[in-house]
Amino acid sequence: MTDKIDHASQDEAPVFPSAEFAASASLNAEQYRAMYERSMNDPEGFWGDIAQELHWFSPWSRVLDWQEPHAQWFVGAQTNIAYNALDRNVNAGLGNKRAIVWEGENGEVRTFTYAELLEQVKRAANVLLNLGVVKGDRVTLYLPMIPEAAIAMLACARIGAIHSVVFGGFSVAALADRIQNAQSKVLITADASYRRGALVPLKGKADEAAAHAEVLEKMLVVCRADCNAPMQEGRDVYWHDALAQASSEHTAEPLDSEHPLFVLYTSGSTGKPKGVVHSTGGYMVGTYLTTKTVFDLKENDLFWCTADVGWVTGHSYTVYGPLLNGASVLMYEGAPNHPDWGRFWDMVQRHRVSVLYTAPTAIRSFMRAGDSFPGRFDLSSLRLLGSVGEPINPEAWRWYERVIGGGRCPVVDTWWQTETGSIMLTTLPGAFPAKPGTAGLPMFGVDPAIVTREGDEVQDGQGGLLVIRRPWPSMLRTVYGDDARYAKTYWGEIPGVYFAGDGARKDSDGYITVMGRVDDVLNVSGHRLGTMEIESALVGHASVSEAAVVGRPDELKGEAVVAFVLLKDGHTVDAAELRQHVSTQIGALARPDAIYVADALPKTRSGKIMRRFLRQVAAGQEISGDTSTLEDPSVLERLATTPAQ
Ligand code: ATP
Ligand code: MG
Repeated sequence: MTDKIDHASQDEAPVFPSAEFAASASLNAEQYRAMYERSMNDPEGFWGDIAQELHWFSPWSRVLDWQEPHAQWFVGAQTNIAYNALDRNVNAGLGNKRAIVWEGENGEVRTFTYAELLEQVKRAANVLLNLGVVKGDRVTLYLPMIPEAAIAMLACARIGAIHSVVFGGFSVAALADRIQNAQSKVLITADASYRRGALVPLKGKADEAAAHAEVLEKMLVVCRADCNAPMQEGRDVYWHDALAQASSEHTAEPLDSEHPLFVLYTSGSTGKPKGVVHSTGGYMVGTYLTTKTVFDLKENDLFWCTADVGWVTGHSYTVYGPLLNGASVLMYEGAPNHPDWGRFWDMVQRHRVSVLYTAPTAIRSFMRAGDSFPGRFDLSSLRLLGSVGEPINPEAWRWYERVIGGGRCPVVDTWWQTETGSIMLTTLPGAFPAKPGTAGLPMFGVDPAIVTREGDEVQDGQGGLLVIRRPWPSMLRTVYGDDARYAKTYWGEIPGVYFAGDGARKDSDGYITVMGRVDDVLNVSGHRLGTMEIESALVGHASVSEAAVVGRPDELKGEAVVAFVLLKDGHTVDAAELRQHVSTQIGALARPDAIYVADALPKTRSGKIMRRFLRQVAAGQEISGDTSTLEDPSVLERLATTPAQ
């Protein structure tokens, strides 16, 4: 790919936080700058001080040992992230504070205080030990969004077992692959899970996967539904029985700071999933600090990150980050549209959620469903909103800010990856204005740049490749079982820097706009166009609710722009008018050559558009390639094969 990504769209006007929010924010712009500067000039001093806010069983000899591409943070120190998330908070007097408030899809609510959660985790840790799990063993979790998912993760962390959470919506084949790749001896699953009122037989899928994963020895089964799943003698154990019998005494294992905490397979928008490995100490410090600062946590917040624990966002911001900060989190089992699109807002009202962190794909769905759903509820408890997972279109950003936030709540757009472990770019709420569609400034210790393939920095305003020029604590340590792939993918593409795989540009205020994956950037007549910009223009049209743009090989232009659009209820569209709209918004270059009207887009189970399939449709090819991470394979069959006129 060449260096430059052109763009012609207007930068969005900054949106300032209210004076009220700014006055109560824990960091202002000046404080951010001082901290950021120190994190650049004296990284070891900076990170050492932050790490001291947490508990270590023994101290480090050095904060950082960096031998590209391998970093060690808090070298030689011993700690335990579950101890820090639970025992430490209970010891500090938070035993009676709510740690997890969980709501089932059927409306059932369960609450765990810090003391109660700690007891469950201790019992679960003993259960794992009784099953023969030892430090360093991998344990796969295949669970719905139920409190036991968090308990199981923390129990693994407590004994030094490495958890590998596989999203409960994944297929048998995807699960078997991941068990086999991680060589897990133990699988923790549930009899079933609820999804849009229906029961999904998780245990049945787990049994099928087990038949293809010889390495598996034991299965712990949480009873979520009717406890009626067939159990295999000698292999399967009910979680509740085992926990009831296990001791509630357990001392957290002191672990080396670099001891692997978990493996997590990335969502696979771009190809074969890879097992990203995170460490204990660095990941702990990174998620602790970013949760505290980006979400400006206050003592009485109820923090709701809607991500499933099957994704890194669920790991870092449903479980570890908030609990490390002694916060109360809300966890929800089901679909956002069950029984209707008002579910989230009903929950915000009933539980008095104050911080909400969700994904653009969800925001666009809410937008499509209409303002009347949030309009029925009192959302005044909200004070801060966050977005993650994809570039957020300015249109969706503004809707979120206005309709959900009531124009009162800052919106933090957070850019990061499974690989980065914690938030890398955002605008700290209260300290900086946000620019819709733009992630923003680097977090502490993050040293980003926009460069060419050769590693030369491009000028402000010009597009290029997003890289990070030095290691940060919560950086991935390797790809499970394939360190060569780690070195090549992340540190081997561009000399001396971490390559994120995303295209981006920086404005004169230092704000970084992530334009999407480099593979998704188009080359039209020698000009580089970000898919996200064209998509945002399309979504800006009154009749379009969602759009995906891909390139199609074109003899004359190199690539032609092809758009797939979803229409708002009751709307029709004239292709010529849409083309003209894009032309006016961005420029004639971005004008789509073909526009397909679709009723759904192919997405990963985490809600991201899988453009590689759309590229095949646009080029008139048969759809091929790995479909295991696709949410709904039938979407591919339903895609129109002829463009709209
Ligand atoms: P795979 O790497 O397996 O193809 P993935 O990249 O979708 O899957 P994640 O690690 O969950 O898996 O997603 C990280 C990517 O999501 C980023 O590299 C970026 O492309 C996109 N992303 C996440 N947050 C933002 C954001 N706030 N703005 C723009 N892009 C974002
Ligand atoms: Mg990725």
